[in-house]
Amino acid sequence: MVANQAMNSNNENGENTDVLDSTRTIVKGALDKLGYPDEVYELLKEPLRMMTVRIPVRMDDGTMKVFTGYRAQHNDAVGPTKGGVRFHPNVTEKEVKALSIWMSLKAGIVDLPYGGGKGGIICDPREMSFRELEGLSRGYVRAISQIVGPTKDIPAPDVFTNSQIMAWMMDEYSRIDEYNSPGFITGKPIVLGGSNGRESATAKGVTICIHEACKKRDINIEGAKVIVQGFGNAGSFLAKFLHDAGAVVVGISDAYGALYDADGLDIDYLLDRRDSFGTITKLFDETISNKELLEMDCDILIPAAVENQITVENADKIKASIVVEAANGPTTMEATKILTKRDILLVPDVLASAGGVTVSYFEWVQNNQGYYWPEQEINEKLHNVMIKAFENVYHIAETRQVDMRLAAYMVGVRKMSEASRFRGWV
Ligand code: GLU
Repeated sequence: MVANQAMNSNNENGENTDVLDSTRTIVKGALDKLGYPDEVYELLKEPLRMMTVRIPVRMDDGTMKVFTGYRAQHNDAVGPTKGGVRFHPNVTEKEVKALSIWMSLKAGIVDLPYGGGKGGIICDPREMSFRELEGLSRGYVRAISQIVGPTKDIPAPDVFTNSQIMAWMMDEYSRIDEYNSPGFITGKPIVLGGSNGRESATAKGVTICIHEACKKRDINIEGAKVIVQGFGNAGSFLAKFLHDAGAVVVGISDAYGALYDADGLDIDYLLDRRDSFGTITKLFDETISNKELLEMDCDILIPAAVENQITVENADKIKASIVVEAANGPTTMEATKILTKRDILLVPDVLASAGGVTVSYFEWVQNNQGYYWPEQEINEKLHNVMIKAFENVYHIAETRQVDMRLAAYMVGVRKMSEASRFRGWV
């Protein structure tokens, strides 16, 4: 199963798949290229704050279950920390730390006044009732309430969390703080101060990167064969946007398996039948594995699921000429080298998936000013931000002769390093 691989720190090839280790290595590489001293790396290699909490929840069968959760705040030199909360059985402390560093990088790449944060709870929301999920969401906010807030650290959705969970969290925080506090969290339902366009923002940002990457590689999106791994928030909207843009979506997957059809899948039908966790393949008899899907014929491959999917084992077998990472951390460091050597254009996660946090920023700004923008305005602003970020990273990759991931990290670390220096931290 896809999800299990995220936990191991060595895969069957002996390759180190520890996402925190690899993130640190690339951060170090980026800082070295930019000429920053070691003390900057010492500051950035770990979140400034990491909180572990235990959350008791009364389950529907009357028993009390205690869940473990985390909140990491990587660096708040630029501004409050910002980033999602994931509910997943494979959440680990190290993963949450790495994810918080990636959020700092994303904020730097799309130039937001934030540092990175991230949260996670070890649980399987697919097996929990609505009432149990509400208890868990509220319990988590009570546990971390002292270190979060609209000007401290602003949570958002991530894997297996959604606008309903954000609503419960916002309500709990508002009760604790004794005033209505929509700016505490983003990704809320529109009626509670959510932003137009937030739900599809990650996929929109990825789509913009795909269009830009296609231009660089002279690929016409119309008729291009696309595989999207993962059918959650990012993956499902992506399949829809690409299908609407005339691409042929030949493969999709969920945590249980994958569907492939060289003539193109019926995306509207699949979207209609998926459940809220993105499960769809259980309805079909003829499925292939996620592993097989990644090696199938296509022009553009979009990993939109979990970590460590493209590794030394399959990087040589990828048929696509463009890989755009909608998930966080889907490609290992070694695999990045192989893809780059094979001249496959890899658009890294910290750039490609930054559309979500960009519109989260717009949501927070709207909450702070109490004035809401129409969707068209959001989309235009997002478009401009993503194009600028893509061009910036691509330019650095070309001029400094580095791969796109290192280029993105170079852009991403700069602002927080400068801000930390001005503050006298390094
Ligand atoms: N969880 C999303 C991410 O990984 C969005 C974070 C946010 O909107 O703050 O980028």
